[in-house]
Amino acid sequence: MSTIEHWINNDVFAGTSGSTAPVTNPATGEVTGAVALASVEDARAVIDAAAAAYPAWRDTSLAKRTQILFAFRELLNARKDELAAIITSEHGKVLSDALGEVSRGQEVVEFACGIPHLLKGGFTENASTNVDAYSVRQSLGVVGIISPFNFPAMVPMWFFPIAIATGNTVVLKPSEKDPSASLWLARLWAEAGLPAGVFNVLQGDKTAVDELLTNPAVKSVSFVGSTPIAKYVYATGTAHDKRVQALGGAKNHAVILPDADLDLAADAMVNAGFGSAGERCMAISAAVAVGPIADDLVAKIAERAAGIKTGDGTKDSDMGPLVTQAHRDKVASYVDAGEADGAKVVLDGRQVSVEGAADGFWLGPTLLDNVTTEMSVYTDEIFGPVLSVLRVDTYDEALELVNANPYGNGTAIFTNDGGAARRFQNEVQVGMVGINVPIPVPMAYYSFGGWKASLFGDSHAHGMDGVQFFTRQKAITARWLDPSHGGINLGFPQNQ
Ligand code: NAD
Repeated sequence: MSTIEHWINNDVFAGTSGSTAPVTNPATGEVTGAVALASVEDARAVIDAAAAAYPAWRDTSLAKRTQILFAFRELLNARKDELAAIITSEHGKVLSDALGEVSRGQEVVEFACGIPHLLKGGFTENASTNVDAYSVRQSLGVVGIISPFNFPAMVPMWFFPIAIATGNTVVLKPSEKDPSASLWLARLWAEAGLPAGVFNVLQGDKTAVDELLTNPAVKSVSFVGSTPIAKYVYATGTAHDKRVQALGGAKNHAVILPDADLDLAADAMVNAGFGSAGERCMAISAAVAVGPIADDLVAKIAERAAGIKTGDGTKDSDMGPLVTQAHRDKVASYVDAGEADGAKVVLDGRQVSVEGAADGFWLGPTLLDNVTTEMSVYTDEIFGPVLSVLRVDTYDEALELVNANPYGNGTAIFTNDGGAARRFQNEVQVGMVGINVPIPVPMAYYSFGGWKASLFGDSHAHGMDGVQFFTRQKAITARWLDPSHGGINLGFPQNQ
């Protein structure tokens, strides 16, 4: 059984708390490791290391920083199979999905490799006679990243490549459910030549998070997780004068219009509903069927979903287990509640078992029809392989339903009508919209973020929002040439 420790100054750090939490392989139910849970003193030691490394890293040239970023990118690209295997062993998602997660994270590293261009400021010559005006963007200092269990590599990589590229030092607090990916990434940074103390890992739970939110040395917090914790992180971090972006939970709808290609839509519902066992913040959990197509759509989804092979992510399965037994049971209880509330269970994953793996946290693809907006299976974020079908008569009803939901992370519309799609992209109150695309995760050079209860703060992740979040602007006004001496003048400076 491995011990998963903190990381400071390019080395593991055991900490002094003596407290640990078990880490399991969800496909076998076996405890494979014990992750350190930081005390306040441990958290301070990690933050102090990041603070000590900051001045030298801030002053490291862009040329040198980019060399290290490129080296990190090359190492990651060459060895991403290793990282994918670690993700699967602790999260449970199938290997191809884990590899997909790493690739999307790598795209942010590639974006950050262009940092010299992205950091260019503005310059205005002769703004006033012999006076030049210009602006620069400077790093913040120590930045905290707090990540969820469902993307142990990609979500941290939404933030740290840009944070590091812009000259900050990082403390990453990964999920205690699958913490090993963070240490693998830390070792890779060291191998790529990143100086000690620039990238640090703090393992732990609420104690570690609270220290990041209150310690004056930490200048910003990037959080991704469930909505109640996102709200708490935003309120606490901003109350302690930090810049905070807190991405929360989701309930993503797909609207299927009567003119849509139903085979395309059914494929998309299966992929987006059951991929990664529904443990994606961009998973589709509510399919809104408009008009007379509902019966056909449900039949097509059921037929496809019935063919999904649930099993160990390392063994040629389509869908892996849920992350813990407790989470598996919670998801199953939502299916029970939906059935009791009158939803029709078209496909039931509750009894799925996997040969030779009786102790895995299994729940097969589950399809519920005739779900209504009052049922808990609809109102709550379930975060499992449960797809609910809601039936409405018109586009307007579908739009109203999506917009009435408190979450606003992602959504999709399936149609062959460009006008309807254009109306939807304009009218829907959601941050990321797919048109015949079920999981519209923005590219690294755009920014990722939802609306309403899916994001607190005004900066989305990566893209130019990322560059802006991890830097502060400074505007400078300078006079060098032939400085005129106008004598004493208490009037407000005017341009001439
Ligand atoms: P979570 O909120 O339980 O945990 C997220 C992080 O917060 C973890 O690092 C955890 O250790 C910490 N944490 C948990 N409880 C805490 C507390 N009481 N005080 C302080 N810190 C605490 O989320 P999770 O279960 O790991 O991840 C799943 C959730 O994340 C889902 O709601 C999902 O929608 C969301 N998510 C959102 C996005 C997005 O981009 N909006 C992306 C991925 C996941």
